[in-house]
Amino acid sequence: MKHLFTIFGNPVSHSKSPMMHNLAFQALNYNGCYTRYHLEDGTQLRQKFFELDIKGANITVPHKEAAFKACDELDSFAKKVGAVNTIVQKEGKLYGYNTDAPGFLKAIETFSNAKTVLFLGAGGTAQSSSVILRDAGYEVTILNRSAERLKRYQEEGFETYTFETFQAKPYDLVVNMTSAGLEDESLPCPAAILESVVPTAIACIDVIYGKVTPFLQFAQTHGKPTKDGSDMLLYQGIIAFQYFTDEQFTFEEIESHMKKVFIT
Ligand code: NDP
Repeated sequence: MKHLFTIFGNPVSHSKSPMMHNLAFQALNYNGCYTRYHLEDGTQLRQKFFELDIKGANITVPHKEAAFKACDELDSFAKKVGAVNTIVQKEGKLYGYNTDAPGFLKAIETFSNAKTVLFLGAGGTAQSSSVILRDAGYEVTILNRSAERLKRYQEEGFETYTFETFQAKPYDLVVNMTSAGLEDESLPCPAAILESVVPTAIACIDVIYGKVTPFLQFAQTHGKPTKDGSDMLLYQGIIAFQYFTDEQFTFEEIESHMKKVFIT
């Protein structure tokens, strides 16, 4: 029997996930088919899962919190961060995971000397990534446009700033965790702040993938190594694929096929 997988989101039309997973299913002879589902209302997620008899799904913007609520069981990390981007159905129960944050953690492993990290942005992706990085021994500071979103980080003991209160010091990695530059040409924070942190950084990273954002352009003009969000996307997909297929394949086996989607 062919197993059905999907990505739920809104918008979802530009997602690379169907291509990544279908390519790996085919190459690894797994009887699966991965589609995309434009979902307006996140509270419908659980019902759709069972109605369509979906074996596994990824969940993207804006439904990661709804996905968290839709699950019967959560792995300990997903429970801690309150966001789920991968669900697997087993015997009528939904099991939830977060693979975005481990994907990001793995993506920055290439900068092996990095210890201190400045996040520009405090949304959902920053939230789960900040927790996993801190657990892995990084020192994470959060800088965000508005004060509102910083409350949760303050409660969790992170050092936080708004643009107005920021006091620059050297950071090994500066990361754009906002959606600034995704569909516009804006920087994630005022250029003066970037001037105060980019020159001393080892590298600059963007979670947006497939384009050189204004932030990465800024870093390149300062001669800094840069990395976009493609590796994060690839790695979160590989980890999700392992959950989808009950760990039948190694990370490296899946990677060797899935990464072909990113070769241009
Ligand atoms: P959220 O909507 O949860 O958070 C958005 C954040 O961006 C907020 O901190 C917001 O600040 C800030 N922001 C938005 N626009 C601007 C702007 N013009 N200037 C300054 N700050 C801005 O988003 P997510 O955390 O879900 O996603 C963030 C990014 O991560 C997106 O670009 C998404 O595409 C990317 N992503 C990439 C993945 C990958 O695999 N590569 C996986 C998941 C996400 P404020 O609080 O002030 O509004």
